Amino acid sequence: MKNFKGKAIYNPSGKAGEYSYWACNFYNGCSNGCTYCYLKKGVLAHTLGGDKPTLKKCFKDEAHALEIFEKELKVNLMKLQEYGLFFTFTSDPFLPETITLTVKAMIKCLSNNVPVKTLTKKTDWVEYFLQDEEINKKNLCKKLFAFGFTLTGHDELEPNASTNAERIEAMRKLHEAGFKTWASIEPVIDFESSLQMIEETKDFCSHYKIGLKSGKKYNFEELNYFVSNVVFTFSKPNDFQKNPMKQIFSPYGKWDFFNKIYFKDSLLKQAGLNRSILPDNCVKRDWSIFGLKYLLEVYRRWKDCGSDSAMTNDSTSLTDRDKE
Ligand code: SF4
Repeated sequence: MKNFKGKAIYNPSGKAGEYSYWACNFYNGCSNGCTYCYLKKGVLAHTLGGDKPTLKKCFKDEAHALEIFEKELKVNLMKLQEYGLFFTFTSDPFLPETITLTVKAMIKCLSNNVPVKTLTKKTDWVEYFLQDEEINKKNLCKKLFAFGFTLTGHDELEPNASTNAERIEAMRKLHEAGFKTWASIEPVIDFESSLQMIEETKDFCSHYKIGLKSGKKYNFEELNYFVSNVVFTFSKPNDFQKNPMKQIFSPYGKWDFFNKIYFKDSLLKQAGLNRSILPDNCVKRDWSIFGLKYLLEVYRRWKDCGSDSAMTNDSTSLTDRDKE
């Protein structure tokens, strides 16, 4: 894929690229205060690692940022409809300072049929969000928004974030309201806590991205045991009997598990494991939480229409077809 580097929207590379092919950053800096924050490390720490989010210097104000965002969204519309857009790598998208612009941009995505993935450690917005009548009227939100929470099990390392228990509860509420939910189990601080986070969310979290702490060397045997335990958590023989709704019939003609796991490349490398030997529910980077049906529809429309403008001008028809 050709690399796009806009002011708001871009193609992340390296480890960030394992989270999404497309991402949007409006702000630099974050007030959650995580002691392991990746923004505070490396050569860009002085720009990215502030304790307070500030609008990126390339934007005059929020209105200007949204204007640029919309232009970049339109330029990359077909790819964004196919892959979705991630918020955000250089801050938390739901801080008091960042949430307004994030939500405005999400609404622009919605009206252009672009799936949105968010990742946060804040939960105070969830109650308001779920009470919003406009949001709840729009069924498409539930197809196109996937809400992710980082879960480490270590509140003491994330002093200004919502607690891990609050994040789990928020995820449960969003799932029960019909939204897609996923978790970033990264960084793994210790294997026991990470397993506990997975165990506590497995009934309402459909996708896990699992990664190690950058630069940390883990015990080889313990890491392998952790991977086996994660896989085992989702493959107990009585899962299906206990809750058949947690499995779906896949287009490949076999029963498929509700929970999908993505182990990051660096984790598998340290564990000396090849992705190809992992069971089917351990997915590759390109697995989409938005579902094969949606992707096939986008592909079909792309083949039928053959132009960006046809997709843009007819932005509601995908919604209507999905409702049928
Ligand atoms: S939530 Fe993310 S960006 Fe914010 S301080 Fe923690 S690690 Fe850094």
